[in-house]
Parts: sequence; C-alpha cells; structure tokens
Amino acid sequence: MKKPRKESSQKGREQIGLGTDSGTPGLAVYHLFGDAEVAGFRASLLSWYDRAKRDLPWRRRAAAEPDPDRRAYSVWVSEIMLQQTQVATVTGYYTKWMQKWPTLQDLAGATLEEVNELWAGLGYYSRGRRLQEGARKATGVVDGNVSRVLCRTRAIGADPGSPLVTQHLWSLAQQLVEPARPGDFNQAAMELGATVCTPRSPLCPECPVRDFCRAQKRVEREHEQTARTSRGSPERGTPLDVEECAPKNAAPCPLCLPPAQPWRQDLGVANFPRQPARKAPREQRAAVCVLQQPGSESGRFLLVQRPKSGLLAGLWEFPSVQAEGPEAVQRQALGKALRTWVDHPLPLRSLRHLGEVVHVFSHIRQTYVVYGLALAEPLQGLPPPGARWVTRTEFQAAAVPTAMKKVLRLFEGQRSGRGKASKRSPGPAASGRQLTLSAFLKPTSTP
Ligand code: SF4
Repeated sequence: MKKPRKESSQKGREQIGLGTDSGTPGLAVYHLFGDAEVAGFRASLLSWYDRAKRDLPWRRRAAAEPDPDRRAYSVWVSEIMLQQTQVATVTGYYTKWMQKWPTLQDLAGATLEEVNELWAGLGYYSRGRRLQEGARKATGVVDGNVSRVLCRTRAIGADPGSPLVTQHLWSLAQQLVEPARPGDFNQAAMELGATVCTPRSPLCPECPVRDFCRAQKRVEREHEQTARTSRGSPERGTPLDVEECAPKNAAPCPLCLPPAQPWRQDLGVANFPRQPARKAPREQRAAVCVLQQPGSESGRFLLVQRPKSGLLAGLWEFPSVQAEGPEAVQRQALGKALRTWVDHPLPLRSLRHLGEVVHVFSHIRQTYVVYGLALAEPLQGLPPPGARWVTRTEFQAAAVPTAMKKVLRLFEGQRSGRGKASKRSPGPAASGRQLTLSAFLKPTSTP
C-alpha cells in the first residue's frame, strides 16, 4: 500500500499549492505556507476570533478607544506583558499601567525607575525597560502560544529554541499576519494558543485553522495507517513526515522531528513543538544583608541599586556580595561591602546568619545566604548615590525584585521568632517560579 499513500501525499501538496523546494537550502516547503493557505488561515483565524474572543481589559479598551494610536499602544502593552506571564497575573498590572501611562507619550516621559516600580513582581524586567525604550517606536511581538500554533500547523519538530526554528517561526508570523488587522491577528493567534491549541490537551475538533494544520493531518494519516495495518495490509514503510517533507534520498530536514526523537503515537499533535532541550540553570550564590536602623513603622532598610545592565538591571536590593567560602569569609566580604554604603562604624559582630532563600530565574538558580543586622541607634547623615533607606511601606512600593521580598520575609520571620531557619541550618528555601522564555519573534505588525 505504499504507492497509493505516496500518490495521496503528492495530491495533498498539489491541493495546497506547494512546490517541492522552498528556495532555502535544506528547508522543504512542507514547513511553509502557500499563498492560498495564507489567505485561508487569516480568514479562518480572524473570523473565529471575532466570535470567540475572551473579554479582557486590553480588548475592552481597544474596542472602546477611537484613537488608532492610543488603541495600538494599549494592545502593544498587553502583548509585551503577556509574553511570559499568564493572563490572570497580567490583568492587574495592565490596569495599573494604563491608568498611569494611558498614552505612548505618557510612557515616553516616564523614568526607568517608575517603570521598574510598576513592573516589580511581574518578572522578566527587561520587558518593562523595552516598553519604555520603545515608546517612540512601538513594535509587536508574538509569544510562546503562537510559536506552538505555528510549530503544529507546519509540523516543525526541531528544537524550538534553536536559531533556525526561531528564525523560521518569525518569517511564518510575518507571512501570515493580516496587514489590515495586525493587532487583532496577533491577539487571535495568541488566543488560539491559549484556549484551543493548548500545550497538552489541544481541542483540534474546534480549531478554526484545523484545515491548515500538518500536525492534525499527520494524526489522521497515522490513524488510517493503523487501521490499514490492523486489516492486514502490508507493513508501513518510510515514516510519514520524512516521506512528505523531503524527497527520497534527500538530506534530513532540519525542521522535522529529529531521528533521535521520532513521532510518538500517544502524543498526537503534541509531538509538536518538541520539548526544548533544557539546560540546568546555573547555580549562583550571594550573601545578602538586611541592614535595619530603628525608626517609624518597623525601622528603615538599606537598599542599593543594581548596575544598569545585566540581570535585574537598575532594580534595588539589599547589599550583597558573591557568597564564596565559609561563613567567616562571607561575613568579612559583607562587612566590607556595607562599609562602602554606610559611613559609620557598624557592629558587625552582631551580623546574624538567618538562613537561605532560593530564587530561580530562567537560567540561574540563585541562592541568597541571608544575614541580618539590626542597629540599636539611628544613623546620622545621608547614604551615598546608589543607596537609600526605605521604610517597609516604601520597600513594598519600590522597584525591588521578588527575591528581595522573600529575603525580607525571612528576616522578619526571624525577628518575630516565626522563622524556621536556624543560624546554622539552611533556612526555608523559598523557591521561585521556573519560567520559560518563549520564542521572541520579530514584529508582525506595528500596532
Ligand atoms: Fe493546534 Fe489542533 Fe488546531 Fe492544529 S488543529 S493548530 S494542533 S488545535
């Protein structure tokens, strides 16, 4: 039965108007959209979106906003916020953001400090910075939901984190976007990935772009083949995607499922995208000191600002040093660091080891070895540039990363006797959320 299957495969290609060569060395047209498909995909997706879209604040705002620039800005902010964060979390941040900076011009006038303060807790702080930097030149982006839809519709089984796949997804997104409704198209594609083409339980029978989906077609053909085999037809030959994608004897396609991770019947369409090769996050340790002086509320805490680039750029944190060597070495290093921020003799013998806090960033597993030093007397004088004393209320409103909030909780738990960590044993390791960076695709539109 091998021959009839090949004919059917060829017929399928002709029906969708594909040739046999993408024009890109090594890439088969199997992973591209033909012109007729682009038009059909756009129309199906947008008409589904018009019927089924969820009622979300950015959509309500966009629908009610007559000014196209303000409307585009409100969509752009939501797209950036939604890139690596769930809708439920984004909603509150989005509302606050739009109240504070309702227009692009308002945002352009904001300081990075203000942006970081509002963004605090949302994670991936570079997004807030990019929004602020791009306030004069808005760009659209497509999130991980969309890359899942594209990987499935074009049967892309190679590592979604690889440069080749990222670039390919980018060009597919560029090709598909509806020029007359780019913002809606982006929203629709994200919505499809979030509600229908979900990671583990996609609702293929309800999917508006099912007719354009190679993953779905592959499932149907696998079923047909299984049925034929169970009826006693000859055994299967070449794997289906290899047969459909690359001409016989051609080099393996770099976008197909790799031979080492072949199609799994039990996964169905969820064979795509392939799970990215996860690198174990790098282990980093820092010793951090909560320095408190007496005052109103629960006193004041010393914060210092991080460098303007790199991880958590420009955010505020408790003074810290790399945690190397035994406790005595860490104490010494912390003492030295504290003296650069506080021009006053400090009772460093009273520095207490409180425990550890773990926070997992996308690529770093950061352990903070937490020390605390509560001063008996208020300090005189002002801190140098790059440092400030804040009350607890000011701390909560400041641009401080989530990890520092965990550090403060440990310090306060210890002060009130509620903490579980002992001086010698690691404290409660407050583990942060492991976030996954989605593929970052270049703009498909300029909303
Ligand atoms: Fe995703 Fe299924 Fe739709 Fe394909 S048919 S895009 S796998 S939901």
